Amino acid sequence: MIISGEDKRGEVYKMKKELIFLGPPACGKGTQTAKLSEYLNFPHVDTGSLLRAEIKGETEAGKEAKSYIDKGQLVPVELVTKIIKNRLSQDDCKNGYILDGFPRSVEQAEELEKMNAEIDKNIESSFKAIYFDIDTSILVERIVNRRSCPKCGEIYNLAFKAPQKEGLCDKCGTELTQRKDDTREVAQSRFDTYFNETAPLIDYYKNKGVLKTIDANGEISEVWERLLKVVND
Ligand code: AMP
Repeated sequence: MIISGEDKRGEVYKMKKELIFLGPPACGKGTQTAKLSEYLNFPHVDTGSLLRAEIKGETEAGKEAKSYIDKGQLVPVELVTKIIKNRLSQDDCKNGYILDGFPRSVEQAEELEKMNAEIDKNIESSFKAIYFDIDTSILVERIVNRRSCPKCGEIYNLAFKAPQKEGLCDKCGTELTQRKDDTREVAQSRFDTYFNETAPLIDYYKNKGVLKTIDANGEISEVWERLLKVVND
C-alpha cells in the first residue's frame, strides 16, 4: 500500500514506506513478512536468505559469511551493509520495502540511516520498526522443527504447520530442507547474539519514537491481524 496525499500545491505525492522487523530467532518474522510483502506488494528483503544465496553461489561474500553463520554469529557489518545497500537501491524498493533481519546491531542501524538518507535524497519516507514480542522459551523447539522450501521459500514447522505431504512443499512440491544453523547448539548461540547485539535496538528505536510492538504469541492468523493494525496505523 502506498500512502498518498496532496501537498500544498495540490500535487499528489507518494510516501515511501520503510518497514524493518525486530525479534528473536524463529519469532515468526519470516512467515509474517513474506505474507506482508505479497499484501503490500513491496519486496521482502531478508538478509539471512540473501546471505544463504551468496553461500550457495560460492561467492567471495558467501565464503566469508559461512563461518559466522555456522557459529550463529553476526557476519561482519561491512559485508552485510554492502549487500543490503545494493538491494535497497534497486528500483523495486522505490515505493517501500520490508526489511527482515537487518539491522541486527546499533552499528547496523546507523548504517541503515546513512543509506536511507542517500537513497531517499529527494523523496519523503515513513519508517517503522516493528518488534515481535514473544515468549522465548518456546523458540528453540520451533527452530529444530523448522523446515523450508528451497524453491519458493515457504516456511513450515513439523510441530504446528506441517506440510500436507511429508517432506514436500504444499505450494510447489519441492523437497523441504532444514537450515544448517537450525540445530539446538547453533540456536543457543543465535539467541546469545540476539540478546547481546540485536535486542538493544528495541530501546534505540523506542527513543526515536518509531517502535511498534506486537504480541507475536499465538496462531499465525492472530499475529497477522495484529501486524496489519500497526502497518496500517
Ligand atoms: P536469519 O535467517 O535471519 O536467522 O539469519 C541467519 C544468519 O545469517 C544469522 O545467524 C547471522 O549469522 C547471519 N545474518 C543475517 N542477518 C544478518 C545481519 N543483519 N548482520 C549480520 N549477520 C546476519
